[in-house]
Amino acid sequence: MKIHEYQAKELFRADGVPVPPGEVARTADEVYNIARRYGKPVVVKSQVLVGGRGKAGGVKLAKDADEARKHAETILGMDIKGLTVDKVLITQAVKIDTEIYLGVIMDRASQRPVIMASAAGGVEIEEVARENPDAIQRLTVDPLHGLLPFQSRVLASKLHDDFKVIRQIATIIEKLYRTFVRVDASLAEINPLVVTPEGKVLAIDAKINIDDNALYRQPEIESLRDLSAEDPGEVAAREMGLSFVRLKGNVGNIVNGAGLAMATMDLIKTYGGEPANFLDIGGSSNPEKVITAIDIILGDPSVKSIFINIFGGITRCDDVARGLVTAFEKLDIKLPIVVRLTGTNEAEAKEILAKMDLPTADTMDGGVKKAIELAS
Ligand code: GDP
Ligand code: MN
Repeated sequence: MKIHEYQAKELFRADGVPVPPGEVARTADEVYNIARRYGKPVVVKSQVLVGGRGKAGGVKLAKDADEARKHAETILGMDIKGLTVDKVLITQAVKIDTEIYLGVIMDRASQRPVIMASAAGGVEIEEVARENPDAIQRLTVDPLHGLLPFQSRVLASKLHDDFKVIRQIATIIEKLYRTFVRVDASLAEINPLVVTPEGKVLAIDAKINIDDNALYRQPEIESLRDLSAEDPGEVAAREMGLSFVRLKGNVGNIVNGAGLAMATMDLIKTYGGEPANFLDIGGSSNPEKVITAIDIILGDPSVKSIFINIFGGITRCDDVARGLVTAFEKLDIKLPIVVRLTGTNEAEAKEILAKMDLPTADTMDGGVKKAIELAS
């Protein structure tokens, strides 16, 4: 789950990361009033859940309240990478001497948090990684010991040469890591962390992604969710308790069980097709789930066929078949659908489906091939 910069800054503040004062506004008048109250140069920052806002014109420095209002008028309502800006963060502007990159990610390869840092901050870290990989420092943290103070100091010493600055950076690394662990983040990033001409270190941008699998124990974080920025299909799926991920292909698939869903996607690829989604309806034959699943998939115009692949273990195939009948009665489906059911009560299921005139398949291979053919 992604959260906005202003929300990420709140989480950082709570752990003591120095962040310049800021407030959120939804109208140019509010922006004007906040800027007047600050009485100093401010930055007007679009709050959208994508990176590279600065380059897209969504971050603007204003010398006074009048200019802040002007910037707000341009930025509010602006489209940034497909998202409309409906709120901005007004922060007191900071004078910048140097920009540093600082981030923590959960690294799959080492199965540990890795702290990444670079004195070449400000630009996107992917760009630094491509053009100047040696400029990125990496520190793998042992989660049992946690981040040790000397490790932060060694890392900080590679980012600046003034000892007073290094001490501040080391403390910020520790606090950033604390936030990362506390909120179950998969990514926590400060880009840029800036050093002012007076030698003060501040986080002027903040990005935190939360591990979705940890949200059950992070109710406060979950409440920060901004549904307007999420795929409506994925929102509907989550509400119905389905695991759904939209992909780029044209063969939709509805499967019970995550392992079988993965295998189904692999097979679609093997036979030259492209899966349009991952969708696990779980062990249930609840028609409502099937209806939601089909509905979500039908909402994607690139889908040209749907393959339904069910293994009946504890789930009974005839239950699923009845669920499908109900679903088809309720929905107006024009796309070709291929059904493959196998396992418990398979024969009864096939009898039920035979009445519906649906293409069925006896094997997974056969079903996948048919669905790909129907999609092209
Ligand atoms: P991003 O483009 O979405 O990463 O947005 P950032 O918050 O990182 O802002 C982009 C750039 O705007 C930064 O790298 C800075 O160069 C500049 N910027 C942002 N805030 C300030 C500020 O308070 N003072 C100054 N001088 N520049 C700022
Ligand atoms: Mn940034």
